[in-house]
Amino acid sequence: MSELGESPLFAGHRHLSVDEARAAIRLSLQPVDGSQTLPLLQALGRVLDADVLSPIDVPPHDNSAMDGYAFGGSAMRPDAPTVLEVIGTLHAGQPFTAAVAAGQCLRIMTGAVMPSGCDTVVPQELCRVDGDRVTIPPGTVEPGENRRPRGEDLARGRPALRAGQRLRPADLGLLASLGFEQVSVRRRVRVALFSTGNEIQAPGKPLAPGCVYDSNRYSLAASLQRLGCEVIDLGLVADDPKALRATFERAIAEADAVLTSGGVSVGEADYTRQLMAELGDVAFWRVAMRPGRPFAFGPLHAHGRRAWLFALPGNPVAALVTFHAFVREALLQLAGASAQPFPALRLPCATPIRKRPGRTEFQRAIVEPGPDGRWAARLTGSQGAGILRSLSEANALVVLGHDQGSVNPGDEVTVWLFDGLV
Ligand code: AMP
Ligand code: MG
Repeated sequence: MSELGESPLFAGHRHLSVDEARAAIRLSLQPVDGSQTLPLLQALGRVLDADVLSPIDVPPHDNSAMDGYAFGGSAMRPDAPTVLEVIGTLHAGQPFTAAVAAGQCLRIMTGAVMPSGCDTVVPQELCRVDGDRVTIPPGTVEPGENRRPRGEDLARGRPALRAGQRLRPADLGLLASLGFEQVSVRRRVRVALFSTGNEIQAPGKPLAPGCVYDSNRYSLAASLQRLGCEVIDLGLVADDPKALRATFERAIAEADAVLTSGGVSVGEADYTRQLMAELGDVAFWRVAMRPGRPFAFGPLHAHGRRAWLFALPGNPVAALVTFHAFVREALLQLAGASAQPFPALRLPCATPIRKRPGRTEFQRAIVEPGPDGRWAARLTGSQGAGILRSLSEANALVVLGHDQGSVNPGDEVTVWLFDGLV
């Protein structure tokens, strides 16, 4: 990072490493303002606005962890059976106000409140029952066993969830267990998305000569949806400075971030560069990575508003890989989410890979159990930057770090699992 100096956006003409590019983006961004209150079931995937403190003890009372018999554990002796008289039955949700005296017990169901005089439960399958008499062999339970103490899960006033948490199913359950039916979350990040290129055509009609269908807008919109962003789809824009400027101005007016694909490669960059210079402070990076070398990032300004530009390469695999490598974490940061690095695994790679140090490579791979039952990665067919099928067939990316060399079959490699890339 030190080489990037005070303005991390400008790296001159040298190649940035993937890590340097990520760090420069991270240093530039602040979470967007604004929050809203939602019913729990509309809050899946949203980012918690503030710490949630528990308003109650969970569980709210000592209760039984087992179906069995509750009694005062101090009555047990290490060398002799404990014999108790059953004085009643207690179900979950039922109050019991009388005390249980020494020599007595209560039949108790899981979750029922521990009655006064009881601190221990013997599971029903571990004792002998004759009519209203229960015999517990010595050493079956310890005093205090099978009791869930009040506040064991969460004591009142303790933090249950931290601001920045992206709410998952267990978090929603936890909020409900505290009695909340609503939750305050940050507003969604608004991302304007468009594809550029005179040769790009929307799907739905036969292809015109020389054209290709627009796949990036679909793979990128879906990636944004998975991240919980609000997508503003601005469609397809021709390689025409006027049309581009109008679209950018609209995007800046409406969105927190602008995501484009195509038009940042060397051959096309000139007028894009000029437009970017007029609208903002964008750095055109040549990142030392494969696929996905051209990438532009920076603030754009129009009508008194600012939006962050992420300009991805046009090649469909490069567009998605650069999205995962740079944009995913940046958008989570804008959303106010706490840092969520990729779930990276180290797994053996069955396919040999030729690589030279000095750039990061992202190879499309299938992670599955091998013939010996151990999970391993193998590459999917052709790895060209435009071959989207290689990504569609894959369930993971093999990430070969900047300084790494070639991989021999069986060598361990770093793997990003797609289903963690949300
Ligand atoms: P570019 O970065 O604009 O030079 O584009 C690089 C390659 O990606 C070219 O072959 C483009 O035709 C292709 N490409 C650009 N945008 C898209 C898109 N939205 N969908 C599919 N392919 C694209
Ligand atoms: Mg293009």
